Amino acid sequence: MDEKVLVTRSSMPSFEEYAEEIKPLWETRWITNSGVKHRELEKELCRYLNAENLNLCVNGHQALEAIIEVFGLKGEAVTTPFTFTSTTNSIVRKGLKPVFCDIREDDFTIDADKIEPLITEKTSAIIPVHVYGNICQYEKIQKIADKYGLKVIYDAAHAFGVTVDGMGAGSLGDASMFSFHATKVFHTIEGGCAIFKERKYYDRLNQYKNFGLGEDGEIDFAGSNVKMNEFAAAMGLCNLRHIEQSVASRKRAVLRYRENLENVNGIKLNAVRENVKSNYAYFPIVVDPEKFGKTRDEVFEALAKNNIGARKYFYPLTSQNKEFCGAYPASQTPVADKIARGVLCLPLYEGLSNETIDRICGVIKSL
Ligand SMILES: *Cc1c(COP(=O)(O)O)cnc(C)c1O
Repeated sequence: MDEKVLVTRSSMPSFEEYAEEIKPLWETRWITNSGVKHRELEKELCRYLNAENLNLCVNGHQALEAIIEVFGLKGEAVTTPFTFTSTTNSIVRKGLKPVFCDIREDDFTIDADKIEPLITEKTSAIIPVHVYGNICQYEKIQKIADKYGLKVIYDAAHAFGVTVDGMGAGSLGDASMFSFHATKVFHTIEGGCAIFKERKYYDRLNQYKNFGLGEDGEIDFAGSNVKMNEFAAAMGLCNLRHIEQSVASRKRAVLRYRENLENVNGIKLNAVRENVKSNYAYFPIVVDPEKFGKTRDEVFEALAKNNIGARKYFYPLTSQNKEFCGAYPASQTPVADKIARGVLCLPLYEGLSNETIDRICGVIKSL
């Protein structure tokens, strides 16, 4: 049996580099609560992402909940069902009703042309997702938000380092959430951040992430605990030094996949727009069972039999979560439904070899 291939594998610095980075923590014994590493990583990330008002959090999900809370949003949020459940869960957990909008066939992001009919008097926000690092139709979305006075919050968990028309993904909308989870292009083991257009929300999140504690030591509001610790920030500082190599390695892998699968009838590849600089975060394929002759699940099984892990990501749609008790039939978002039933993310990580990619593609083509 060939060696097992997992769908992802975390990038890591050398042990020595990380050890060197965390060594000072044994002297200061300051290991959380906005320590030296935390402050340094915030600064370095602002530089790398060309961003301002970037606030580090314990993970991406909590950053998203925090954004919704510091904006004081209520009522309804127009969002996409083709995402990781974190997006939908944050909306629900903050007491808002998700209103699911269909997605675009070519890049899987929310279909901006279908947003407006979903807006009601209760709508307070649009919460789209830059799926696989594909950037949403941000100009159209902003126009709608301006017309109705809505906040735009991007789930940019997949979009670390991605630029569109020369702008960083984090500069779009009123706020963006990035995830630094171990499986993402850039990680801090667990971690994430919020980037705000306005400074006042950065300040408010500083307070929110530390229980609502004000500078005078009094509690101004019931905040939470969403702080990133120093060991996580240190991992981020190390990984950020190697991010260019890491992305280059992913790019080579993606090009190899494309060469292999470009002309396979019934396998559709992710379209990346020309004005977008990709981070090569994922390699999704969409299986069309009529043209390919096999279903997505059959492709998944064949890979599994060959010791290759793939991921049905995203499947099922988050609108099908049990808590909604069928309130949102998948037929209401037919494109998202079709993509979710056909999509499969193939293994992709730094250092994935061309031989392994050829082996994976060989299994698919043999079907
Ligand atoms: C990873 C991810 C999240 C959650 O981020 P965590 O850092 O794991 O909490 C949210 N949305 C999307 C689209 C993601 O991929």
